[in-house]
Amino acid sequence: MPAYDETNIFARILRGEIPNQTVLETEHTLAFRDIAPKAPVHVLVIPKGAYVSYDDFAANASDAEVLDFTRAMARLTHELGVDLDSGQGYRVITNAGVHGVQEVPHFHMHILGGRNIGRMVD
Ligand code: C5P
Repeated sequence: MPAYDETNIFARILRGEIPNQTVLETEHTLAFRDIAPKAPVHVLVIPKGAYVSYDDFAANASDAEVLDFTRAMARLTHELGVDLDSGQGYRVITNAGVHGVQEVPHFHMHILGGRNIGRMVD
């Protein structure tokens, strides 16, 4: 696992050095609008802890952090109006490393919705 880079943009957002459009904040998780949205709903969900990627987070975060993040995801899809009860739906994506074309090396999930996202994996 590469060392966590404390200067990455999401670390700076978490330290309050860069503004963000917060959608939800919990004890261990922050969700904010993507600065360059690819869909009408495009929210990034990040743990407050220093994890590089999904595999880093899933393997090394505490149970409390993982549960908080997972529950925040469910709450967000509901509050953003894209969960299945809304009749719409959504896509969750995480990019990791070189082949995943990850730009920001702090683990994050993208929640995309508000339009038909199309197929990416068949
Ligand atoms: O490719 P990756 O999953 O790392 O995507 C990083 C995302 O972070 C991009 O969708 C980009 O628009 C977003 N971003 C942001 N605010 C910033 C810098 C990047 O929302 N200040």
